[in-house]
Amino acid sequence: MSKERTDVLILGGGVIGLACAHYLLAAGRSVTVLEQGRVGGGSSHGNCGTLTPSHAAPLAQPGMIGTALRWLLKPDAPLRIKPRFDPALLRWLLGFAAHCNARDCARATAAKAPLLSRSREWIEALVREQGLDCEFEALGTLYAFRDAAHFEEVRQQMAHLADYGIDVEAIDEAEALRREPALKPGLAGALFNPGDAQLRPDRYVAELARIVRAHGGAIEEGVRIEGFVREGGRVTEVATSNGAYRGRDVVFALGAWSPALARQLGLRLPIQPGKGYSITYSRPQRCPRIPLTLKERSVCVTAWGSGYRLGSTMEFAGYDTSLNRTRLDALRRGAAEYLYEPEGPSVVEEWYGWRPMTPDDLPILGRAGTCENLLLATGHGMLGVSLSAVTGVIVSEIVTGATPSFDLAPFAPARFA
Ligand SMILES: Cc1cc2nc3c(=O)[nH]c(=O)nc-3n(C[C@H](O)[C@H](O)[C@H](O)COP(=O)(O)OP(=O)(O)OC[C@H]3O[C@@H](n4cnc5c(N)ncnc54)[C@H](O)[C@@H]3O)c2cc1C
Repeated sequence: MSKERTDVLILGGGVIGLACAHYLLAAGRSVTVLEQGRVGGGSSHGNCGTLTPSHAAPLAQPGMIGTALRWLLKPDAPLRIKPRFDPALLRWLLGFAAHCNARDCARATAAKAPLLSRSREWIEALVREQGLDCEFEALGTLYAFRDAAHFEEVRQQMAHLADYGIDVEAIDEAEALRREPALKPGLAGALFNPGDAQLRPDRYVAELARIVRAHGGAIEEGVRIEGFVREGGRVTEVATSNGAYRGRDVVFALGAWSPALARQLGLRLPIQPGKGYSITYSRPQRCPRIPLTLKERSVCVTAWGSGYRLGSTMEFAGYDTSLNRTRLDALRRGAAEYLYEPEGPSVVEEWYGWRPMTPDDLPILGRAGTCENLLLATGHGMLGVSLSAVTGVIVSEIVTGATPSFDLAPFAPARFA
């Protein structure tokens, strides 16, 4: 039996689906969110929760192929590709390699920087105006380096962010240790990103769900999307484990799960699950105050009043659901090189999540060519929390026909057609 039709049916209850739901409700549309598990149970749950305009540059950078090849046979390297025959992954890797050049890197940075900066502002405004209880703090982030050549290389790369109004401050060891006494001596230098911020991502998602419901949105958990009915160039029904749902518009926000369901709609979405890990602890005594990236080991450290998290690493291992002990241990070992007290007294959770990675490291935003009422809001890679508010605004502008706030050409689904 088909349910009552909503204005917008949102597929996926992660940070992106929920942010879309919020801004669509604010624009006067009714929404229903469908989620196979619990809201925020996917990649949006145990991530590092940093909001980072400073991450405007893509993963696809000049020199990345050489780095990846060097790391290929190291099971605990920050980036790992599990050796296996997978044609979709091979196509993705070739696409990624084609973007590892200075021109594409500059283009992707120019496209992403304004979205990240506005999103950072809008998330702060959302937290304040809606009273979201998610441990938001605007303390910046600090990149710590132990290798002088690496520090100098990244310092030069990040200097270009000034062109987009994103400040990066290079500081010496003494100043870094003064600002963050949880760090051990032995640093080659640090980069401070004053415009960055942090929140507790599981709380943020829970709070988004709360305000969506409070404003009349429906969120149905435990509802698995299984297929689609298409008629006259439109998605007329979404088939689920709980019967059929209908929406005037349909927003596809299925994160790393997107490609398989997109295929049923005649869409090829080159998204690979970029598996990352985190370990959440109770707070150590000597707990960092500023969110840190321990650069040579690519470990991200975030602390909130309610806990302390080590996270990151990027593994291309398909839809693998195991918790890889070697990679969890690499987080611990990496943190121990930089921090006096790298771990908290008790482990609260060990976790993995699949980042929805595109080959050009840009999200896929816009109407899908194949169905006129279908919008894609997926492929946010390493930055879905940071880009959540801007994605919600962009989707609501497309649905309502409002003047777009951004040039969406770099994010067009058609770039992969
Ligand atoms: C270790 C790690 C650290 C990270 N740190 C940061 C950070 O500091 N800052 C930042 O901005 N980003 C970070 N990210 C990235 C961020 O977590 C993701 O970009 C973001 O969560 C993607 O959100 P999403 O809503 O697209 O996907 P998800 O949160 O994965 O949501 C997709 C949802 O779709 C649902 N779904 C899938 N298939 C179906 C189906 N058939 N039927 C119904 N529902 C379905 C899933 O259950 C899931 O809940 C990190 C990621 C990882 C792994």
